[in-house]
Amino acid sequence: MTEPLTPGQVSELRKKHYNATLVALRKPNPELGIFRVQPDFPIPPHKPGQYTTLGLGGWEPRMPGCQEEVLQSGEEAKLIRRSYSISHPILTETGDLVPAGSLPWLEFYIVLVRFSETGKPPALTPRLFMLREGERLYMGEKITGHFTLEGVQPDDTVLLLSTGTGEAPHNYLLWQLLSSGHRGRILAACCVRYRRDLGYLETHQRLVKMFPNYIYVPLTTREPETVHQKVYIQDLITSGQLEEKLGQPLDPAHCHVFLCGNPKMIGVPTVDRITGAKTYPQPTGVIEILEARGFRADQGSKARGNIHFEEYW
Ligand SMILES: Cc1cc2nc3c(=O)[nH]c(=O)nc-3n(C[C@H](O)[C@H](O)[C@H](O)COP(=O)(O)OP(=O)(O)OC[C@H]3O[C@@H](n4cnc5c(N)ncnc54)[C@H](O)[C@@H]3O)c2cc1C
Repeated sequence: MTEPLTPGQVSELRKKHYNATLVALRKPNPELGIFRVQPDFPIPPHKPGQYTTLGLGGWEPRMPGCQEEVLQSGEEAKLIRRSYSISHPILTETGDLVPAGSLPWLEFYIVLVRFSETGKPPALTPRLFMLREGERLYMGEKITGHFTLEGVQPDDTVLLLSTGTGEAPHNYLLWQLLSSGHRGRILAACCVRYRRDLGYLETHQRLVKMFPNYIYVPLTTREPETVHQKVYIQDLITSGQLEEKLGQPLDPAHCHVFLCGNPKMIGVPTVDRITGAKTYPQPTGVIEILEARGFRADQGSKARGNIHFEEYW
């Protein structure tokens, strides 16, 4: 147990570490937030699909009802930082595509993690979800990442497959595709527990009406009508439903797939350094299913591929 910091110490630490303001917050449900964060510095140049970091001090209050945390001596005065993909609003209030370069803030789509499966209590989200509009936080000055549309041609089919808040970078990619007049078909599918966990549902429903080449497939696993016949992203592909919704067969020569969120859905294989042999994890993830159908996971500069992925943990 550590001695609590004094209000004066807390105020000093906030001044020292925080360089951004939460300018808007929408909570589609109490455990899901769309955070708009305006840094004190100019937004660094970046590409849709990339990520930065957000942070709050160990001194900040935690949301009640989360896994208990016992801080070691000195930890209370430290900044807790985590990576977050940048999301993006797609339509303005009047229903036009958001113009490029028009936003003074970055949008983040974050879920409150109350308990950790790994043992160590979640540190940042129980604090982030206590924040109110106008309050200060830390935002990293570096925006980075390989999860971008580089290599995607205007007529390619693009699949954006996610779980939960894994939809965040896909919204930014989707905005870029629609804004650049992408001609190929675009299908976004997102798997969540409940319908209330689809924070951007209304936007996607509007986009489907506006863009004939855009298809949105929301999947829930805990609603009364889906709890006994769950369709995960993997099932969507293996059952043939994805191709049916897309209206064409999956063709690895003209298709890029983006996977983001739960590592179990993605299923990144380990590769033996000497033999190059691949071992896929269990349960079967999307990479194994698609590689069996001629797709190749992107390994950056080592080997370009048409399956791009971002694991959240
Ligand atoms: C490149 C990158 C981008 C990310 N972008 C996002 C994003 O846009 N939105 C977002 O909500 N998270 C995102 N994350 C996860 C984020 O960095 C944090 O791990 C997460 O917010 C939990 O933080 P925490 O400190 O509360 O718990 P942590 O100590 O970081 O995590 C504790 C445990 O929570 C679980 N967990 C972590 N993230 C999630 C999640 N999103 N959904 C369900 N369970 C989770 C895992 O089991 C993890 O071991 C991203 C991670 C990476 C590496």
